[in-house]
Amino acid sequence: MKKIYLSFVSLFAFSCFVHAQIINTIEDGQGAEYIAGNNDAANPCITAEQYRVIEQRCKDNISLLGINTFVEKGANPPLLQWPLAAATGFTDCGFHFIGAFVDQNTASGSIQDFNCESNTYDGHHGTDIATWPYSFYKMDHSSVEIHAAAAGTIIDKHDGEFDRNCGSNNLTANYVIIQHADGSRILYWHMKNGAVTTVAIGQPVAAGDYLGVVGSSGSSSGPHVHFEVWAGSSGSSYNDPYSGNCNLLNANTWWLAQRPHTEPAILKVSVNTTDLVMGTCPATETPNESSQFTVPFQGPGLGPGYAKFYIFLREMPTNAVIDVRILNPNGSTFNNWTYTPSVFSKVSYWGWSKLLPTIAGNYTFQATYNGVTCSTPFEISTTVDVAAITATSELQVFPNPTLDVFTISGEGIENGNYRLTLNNTTGQTLLSENANITSHSIKKAISTAGLAAGVYFLTVETDQSRVAKKVYKQN
Ligand SMILES: [Zn+2]
Repeated sequence: MKKIYLSFVSLFAFSCFVHAQIINTIEDGQGAEYIAGNNDAANPCITAEQYRVIEQRCKDNISLLGINTFVEKGANPPLLQWPLAAATGFTDCGFHFIGAFVDQNTASGSIQDFNCESNTYDGHHGTDIATWPYSFYKMDHSSVEIHAAAAGTIIDKHDGEFDRNCGSNNLTANYVIIQHADGSRILYWHMKNGAVTTVAIGQPVAAGDYLGVVGSSGSSSGPHVHFEVWAGSSGSSYNDPYSGNCNLLNANTWWLAQRPHTEPAILKVSVNTTDLVMGTCPATETPNESSQFTVPFQGPGLGPGYAKFYIFLREMPTNAVIDVRILNPNGSTFNNWTYTPSVFSKVSYWGWSKLLPTIAGNYTFQATYNGVTCSTPFEISTTVDVAAITATSELQVFPNPTLDVFTISGEGIENGNYRLTLNNTTGQTLLSENANITSHSIKKAISTAGLAAGVYFLTVETDQSRVAKKVYKQN
C-alpha cells in the first residue's frame, strides 16, 4: 500500500491587509491554499496619522533628551546588513520571504517595485519581510530576531502593544527608529509585544545589535517586519533600499550586499507524526514535527509505519526539480523522489506520507535544489516487548561476529508465529522466514554464506512485538 498525501499552500501577496483561506482536497490528502489580499493606500502598514505622530515623537525625544544628532556634512548613508537573524538554537535553513517591496509608482491605483515587477502594494513606503512557515509559532518562540541594519542612535521606540493582528487597522505597532550618522533613519515596525530592545532612547546601537522579534503588532495581517528607510527626518524622505531599473527614488542600493528580487530556496524540511496544522490567523500553528520515531510507529490518520515528510519552498520556479531523499545512517539512500512545482508561489509547502525505516539508527531527511541541500536528522528506535519475546532469557545470537552461519536462540518465549528477517544497513531485506514456536523456545541456524563482510540486522517479530539484533559478518 502506498498512500500519498499532498498538501499545498500558496501565499501570493503578504501585506498588512486581510487574507483568505481556500481549502483544497488533493488526492487522498488535504491541503490549504492561502491568498493574501493586496493592501492599498487606505490600509497601509503605517497610517498618515501615525507618520505624523512618530515624526513628532522623534523630534521631541531629540530635543528633550538632548540627543546628539549632528549630521556630518556629505556623509554617505550606511551600508545596511540584513535586518533578520535566527535566534540562538533556531536552525531552519531559511525563514523569510518578501511580502512587499516599496511601491515606486506614485500614481494611485498603480504599483511597481524597484525591479519593474509587482511585488508591492499601492502606496507602500517600506519593505515587508515576513517569516515563514509557522510565523506565529516563530513569534511565540522568539525564533526570528530583528537586528540593527546599521549603527546609529535610537531616537524612538515603543512596546506594549497587542501583537497578533490579522488585518489592517489603526492600531499602534511595537517599533524602533534609529538615526544614522548621515541623518538617515530606519523604522523597524510590527515587533512582538515585550520583545523591544531595552536599550534606551538616546543610546547608541551597533550594526547587528538586537532590536526586537518579528511580530504582528500595528496594522498587520501576520508576523513580518516593515523596514522603512528615510534619507532624512520625515516620512516624505523615504527611499528604497534596493537599486533597480524602476527605483525612481534613489540611485544607489543601501545594502551592503543586495539580495536578488526573487530568491528560490528550500526554507525547511521536516519529518512529522501527522499532518501539520497551519490554522487561521492569529492561531499558533501546530507543526507536529518529530525527530524521534519508535517503531512500530502509528501516526494519526496515517498508514501503519508511515510518517509525513514535508518540504517548505520560497519562490520556486515551475521548472525546478527538487531532489527529495531519506538517507540511511551510512549515507546511502533509503528512499528518494523528486518534486516540481506546478505553479509559482511566494511560499508553498508539500508533504508526502512515506514509510519510515524500521532499523534503529540516525537518519537524514533532505531536499536539494540547484546544488543547495536543506536537511534535518531523525532517529529511529525500536521497541522491545519483553513479555512477548523473552520471558526467561534474552534472545542470543552466536557466534557474533559470525563466518558462514549463526544461531538465534532463546528460552521462555511465548508460543506463536514469528517472522525472522535479515536486513543490510540500507534497509534491504536479504532473508525472511517464518518460525512457529510451540515449545516456548527457539533455536535456529541462519546461513550468512555469500554475504559480504559488514553489519546486518536480524529482526524477530510478531505483529505486537519485535527484537532487533546486530549481526557482524566476517570473511
Ligand atoms: Zn509594510
